[in-house]
Amino acid sequence: MRISMASTMSALETTVIDGKAFAASITESIAAEVAALKAEGKRAPGLAVVLVGEDPASQVYVRNKGRQTTAVGMQSYEHRLPADTTEADLIALVERLNADPAVDGILVQLPLPAHLDSSAVINAIDPAKDVDGFHVVNAGRLAAGLNALVPCTPLGCLLMLKHFIGDLSGLRAVVVGRSNIVGKPMAQLLLQENCTVTIAHSRTRDLAEECRQADILIAAVGRPNLIKGDWIKPGATVIDVGINRIEGPDGKTRLVGDVDCDSALGTAGQITPVPGGVGPMTIACLLRNTLTAAKARTGSGL
Ligand code: NDP
Repeated sequence: MRISMASTMSALETTVIDGKAFAASITESIAAEVAALKAEGKRAPGLAVVLVGEDPASQVYVRNKGRQTTAVGMQSYEHRLPADTTEADLIALVERLNADPAVDGILVQLPLPAHLDSSAVINAIDPAKDVDGFHVVNAGRLAAGLNALVPCTPLGCLLMLKHFIGDLSGLRAVVVGRSNIVGKPMAQLLLQENCTVTIAHSRTRDLAEECRQADILIAAVGRPNLIKGDWIKPGATVIDVGINRIEGPDGKTRLVGDVDCDSALGTAGQITPVPGGVGPMTIACLLRNTLTAAKARTGSGL
C-alpha cells in the first residue's frame, strides 16, 4: 500500500501513498457487500449516469464509471443524450430516474453544454439519489453536520486521511481551494473530524505561511506545482487533489498535481502522488455513495 521514499536532502522519510491500491481495497469491500446482498436474494444497487453531448473526456469518465459499476456487481444504466438536448428534456429524464425504484444513484456528468443550467439540473435530482453530493440539500446537510451524500473526491481524501493518520482530532488542516465540489466540502468534513480548519484561496495574503501551519495540507487548486516543499511543515500529510496537464521538455504532455512533489519529498511525512493518489479514490467513493444511497433509501431492504 505504501512506497517509502527517502530524500537525499533530508533525514525525513516521506511515504508516498498508493491511492490506486487503497481505492482497490475499497472497491473490493463494496463488491463483497453487493455479493452478500445478492446472496440474500436482494437486488443489486443501480447507478444511472447521464451524459449530454460528446465531450471526449466526459465519454471516457462515463465509460470508466459504467465499467467499474458492473465490476462490483451493481447495475449500470447509461443515458447518452445529444448535445442539443433541451433543459426541459434533461430534467424530464432526471425525474423519470428519480421515480425509478431500480435506480439508487443518479449522476449527471459535468460539464454540461453551455445552454444548460447545471445547477437547475443537479437540483432536480432526488437528494436521496444524488451520489455526486452536489445537490444543495446535501451541501446544506453536510454543513449542518447531518447525514449527507458527500462529494466523492473530498470523501476519498477523508478516507485516506483516516486510514493513514488515524484520529484527526485537534490537527491543523489547511485546504487550498474553496470550490463547491472539493474545497468547501473537504473543509466541512475535516471540521467534523475536529480538525482546526483554514480555507485558503486566490485572495489569501500569504499562502506559503498558511500552508506551513498545516499538519494536513489539502491542495485543490488546479495550478501545476504551486505548493513548494518549503511551504510544508516537516512531517505533514499532504493530499494533492490537483490534476494539471503540462508539456514536458520532450514535448509530451504529462499529469502533475498542485504540489511540487519532488521538493516535498523529504519534508512531508506522507504525500499522495499525481497520478495515482486521489484520482482513483473518486470512482471508488461514487460506488460507495451508490451503496450508501441504496441502503438508506430502502432501509437496507433493497
Ligand atoms: P476550481 O477552479 O473550481 O477551484 C479552484 C480553487 O483554487 C478556487 O477556490 C480558487 O480560489 C483557488 N485558487 C486558484 N488559484 C489560486 C492560487 N494561486 N492560490 C490559492 N488559491 C487559488 O477547481 P476544483 O475545486 O474543481 O478543482 C481543483 C483541482 O482539483 C483541479 O486541478 C481539478 O482538476 C482537480 N480535481 C481532481 C479530482 C480528482 O478526482 N482527483 C476531482 C475534482 C477536481 P478563488 O475561489 O478565490 O477563485
